[in-house]
Amino acid sequence: MVRMKVDLKLWLARIADVCFPKQCLLCGRTLLGSENHVCTLCLAALPRSEITKTQDSPMKDAITGVRGIVDANAVFSYVHGNDVAHLVHEFKYHGYHSLAVEMGRLMYDEMFRMAILGDYDAIVPVPLHWTRLMKRGYNQTECLCRGLSGKSGWPVENLLKARRHGSQTRRSGTLRRVNPKGKYYLRDDARTKGRHFLLVDDVFTTGSTILAAAEALLSRSDCRVTLLTFSLTNG
Ligand SMILES: [Zn+2]
Repeated sequence: MVRMKVDLKLWLARIADVCFPKQCLLCGRTLLGSENHVCTLCLAALPRSEITKTQDSPMKDAITGVRGIVDANAVFSYVHGNDVAHLVHEFKYHGYHSLAVEMGRLMYDEMFRMAILGDYDAIVPVPLHWTRLMKRGYNQTECLCRGLSGKSGWPVENLLKARRHGSQTRRSGTLRRVNPKGKYYLRDDARTKGRHFLLVDDVFTTGSTILAAAEALLSRSDCRVTLLTFSLTNG
C-alpha cells in the first residue's frame, strides 16, 4: 500500500513535469531532472565575490581588530539588477524558500572551492524579528543554513533572537562584552563557551547587521565566530 502511494506520487510528479516543465529562474530554459530552480549554466555564470585570504575586502576591513571574529567571506557579488540580486530578491520576497535551501547547498560547494571549510561546531543564522518571520513565513537565512548543513553536516542552531527596536551601530575595535540594547541577543539556553560558529546572513552591505549578531554571540563567554554571507554588495 505504502509502495503504491510512493509510485503514484512519483508518477504524478512526472506528469506535472511533462505538462508544466520547470524553468530556470534566470534564463527561462527548461530544467533537467537534476536541476532545481536555476540551470547549471546560470549557476556557473553567477558572479563570485572573489574574496581571497590575502585580498583586501570590505568584509575583512569590518572585522579587523575585532576580538573573537576569525574570518569573514561572501560567496557571490551582489550588484543592483544582476543575477545574484535577482535570486536574493526571489528567495527573500517572493516566497521561494526552497531556492534559498538550494543556494545554501551551493554555498557549501563554493566554500570548498574557496578553501574556507573550517572546524565549525554549528551554523547560526542571523535571525528575523518574530513579527517579520510571521509576515514572511520563513527566515531566508535559516533556509540558506539548512542547505549548507545538509551538505556539510554542521548542525544549524538558532542561538540568537532579534529585538524589534534594537540599536544597530557599527563598532570598530573590540566589540562590547555586554550588549543590553543591541539588535540581537543570545537565547537563555544558548551554549557558546569554547565553540566555533559559522554565522550566516544573506547579504553583506555595511556589515552592521551581521556584526551586531556576532556581538551577541560573543557576549556571554569566549567563543569564535566566522562570518559568511551569500552575497556581498558592490554598488
Ligand atoms: Zn539558466
